[in-house]
Amino acid sequence: MKLIRTTSAMADWSRRLHREGVTIGFVPTMGALHEGHRALIRAARLACDAVVVSIFVNPTQFGPTEDLAKYPRQLRLDRALCAKEGVDAIFAPTAGAMYQPGFQTIVSVPTLARLWEGEARPHHFQGVATVVAKLLSLVQPDISWFGQKDFQQAALVRQLAKDLNLPGTLRVHPTVRERDGLALSSRNVYLSAQQREAAPVLYRALQAGAAAIRGGERRGAFIQRLMAHVVKTERSVTPEYLAVCDPSTLEPLQTIQRHAVLLGAVGLGTVRLLDNMPVTIRPKS
Ligand code: AMP
Repeated sequence: MKLIRTTSAMADWSRRLHREGVTIGFVPTMGALHEGHRALIRAARLACDAVVVSIFVNPTQFGPTEDLAKYPRQLRLDRALCAKEGVDAIFAPTAGAMYQPGFQTIVSVPTLARLWEGEARPHHFQGVATVVAKLLSLVQPDISWFGQKDFQQAALVRQLAKDLNLPGTLRVHPTVRERDGLALSSRNVYLSAQQREAAPVLYRALQAGAAAIRGGERRGAFIQRLMAHVVKTERSVTPEYLAVCDPSTLEPLQTIQRHAVLLGAVGLGTVRLLDNMPVTIRPKS
């Protein structure tokens, strides 16, 4: 398994493989790899001849008061996981290699970045869009994988790739969860034992919302209140947003027609947790 540190070496590696007719699968990550990342890597391994995993804690997607400095970094463990999964190359550039002195281009997807995570983290999505545009240009993948866990991010990346004709197709992998429903996240290591116990309430709230829809409820406001009510059962958990949205535009839905996504973010002390649940109403046969 190759460890690539520079942007030019990354571009050269992909160019050489493409010349040889090898298809490239790509999984962009910030490292601290867990079973969620592993599922994306396995999907890439099955679909493509060669797999590249990028590990880059992208500074431009963190706000000034966020956890950039303490974000978990564990390249040695990540390399071992990637080697075990048959990854061909890890692309782990330094921040200086990705953003050279004088760097000034910003990519923005303003409408999809306006709500929810974009509201909570004002410059986050332009950081994500810029780094994803750079990574896809460098890696030139045939297929890249993103997690449904970050639903808004996946929607934004889809729009970005379409608008800028970025290389390859995109696949979104379902969320991988702990047994009690908590979505796996590199940030879960920040949770204390008590917070960890309370954390699955977000998943339970989304489940309650989805069950109500399946039971015939169509009013967005009602489902939103229902989810808030479930979250309130854990006093240490603060709801940030719980919303019933159109899965394409992410705008709130007053009335659910056929497709919806339930989006949620909660706070536990200084930790923020995100989750979501897409729901499709099956027409009665
Ligand atoms: P991150 O390292 O957190 O930036 O995540 C890298 C990729 O893995 C993103 O596309 C995430 O959406 C995806 N991902 C993170 N956690 C999960 C999970 N629990 N299940 C599926 N995909 C995930």
